[in-house]
Amino acid sequence: MASDPKMIPQSGLLSAEANQAAALATFGGVLTVDLDAIIANWRKLEKTAVPAECSAVIKADAYGCGAEQVARALNKAGCKTFFVATIEEARKVRAAVPEPTIYVLGGYFQNTGEHYAQINCRPVIGDLNELAEWDVFCRRTGWNGGAAIHIDSGMNRLGLTLAEAQAIIPRINAGDHGITLVMSHLVSAEQLNNPVNAKQLAAFRSIASEFSGVPAALANSSGIFLGAPFQFDLVRPGAALYGVNPTPEADNPMQPVVDLKARIVQTRNVERGESVGYGGTWTARRPTKLAIIAVGYADGYFRAASSNDGTRGAEVIVAGKRCPVAGRVSMDLIAIDITDLPPNAARRGHMVTLLGDGITVDELAHHFGTIGYEVLTSLGRRYARIYKGGNVVEPLAKPASASTAEQPPSPPPVEQPANPPPRPS
Ligand SMILES: *Cc1c(COP(=O)(O)O)cnc(C)c1O
Repeated sequence: MASDPKMIPQSGLLSAEANQAAALATFGGVLTVDLDAIIANWRKLEKTAVPAECSAVIKADAYGCGAEQVARALNKAGCKTFFVATIEEARKVRAAVPEPTIYVLGGYFQNTGEHYAQINCRPVIGDLNELAEWDVFCRRTGWNGGAAIHIDSGMNRLGLTLAEAQAIIPRINAGDHGITLVMSHLVSAEQLNNPVNAKQLAAFRSIASEFSGVPAALANSSGIFLGAPFQFDLVRPGAALYGVNPTPEADNPMQPVVDLKARIVQTRNVERGESVGYGGTWTARRPTKLAIIAVGYADGYFRAASSNDGTRGAEVIVAGKRCPVAGRVSMDLIAIDITDLPPNAARRGHMVTLLGDGITVDELAHHFGTIGYEVLTSLGRRYARIYKGGNVVEPLAKPASASTAEQPPSPPPVEQPANPPPRPS
């Protein structure tokens, strides 16, 4: 990708990398989302959960990866059900994919029935007030597009209590109830041995069995790996699709999806005893060489990844080697200690890797003091965005190394024509 600095024009033609670097010349960072990796992750989860249906949770702009691009790619790969958080998110997804079922997880708001009908998507009803209002809307308009019932099995966030759910069973038995899914959500699915898993499973299983003929869903990404009893008729993975480890107590079975590179603005030498960055919290203990890169906390690289004289911060890959952050991460810039690199290995204009090439979302989350989910949903809006793959049907007669997605024509546009232009900074 744009990381390779050795862009030497050959026989009058620029290399693909040179073309891309030229197209991206104005961007401080380049974010690449590998749609093929998302598809491979979805297929792996689908296989693990078979015979249950595998949906895809694409709320929060598909965890920062781009809801429209992800929905299109996964729909082509065979995914038929999507979950978003809000009706506004559903609207964007519906514009990208006309066919599949879309559920809205985040609660049914007052007077919004028409919006669900307009784009044919389904609310996840999590409260008796919501259910009553939804019923009124459906009766008044004749809308029969379906809704899910969310049952609380221990999260105490959204969902009908078990008693409330019990009370609507007669309606299910009466038929023509408009309930297309019954679901609950796990509290601590990523902890294999947490007894709350079995407790929630037992509670949900007994109530779901009374919703006769209604498909049931309990498992998020991690829940899928708790085993077949948790998988029911449909599973709802989110984070694992985007490369977050759903089994943090074991190796990550998912492929990495996001690659983030930043440009070296300049390199500079610092004398021993000099401090670097805001607050002067990091002191050079030897004659030091720094690379200053054009990404900062405003781009979603958390300030918590800073280093100081007491603590090491995060690492960045420069010229193939891991190098530590030097001093505080600032809004738009970070200093990297590249003293240990061979002379001239890193130069102005070269790209360094912040995420990818072995730096995982979970590793960054550790340095940021958070979870992979927040790393992804915080990814900045100033990057040039590149989408790789996602075509599902193989393009004809293309050399294996020359996917069109990776090689925009020269000069710009930055992305392949099927994708929207990079977000303005
Ligand atoms: C976000 C969400 C999911 C997906 O969870 P992951 O841990 O990202 O797989 C599934 N179900 C519900 C109700 C959610 O809110």
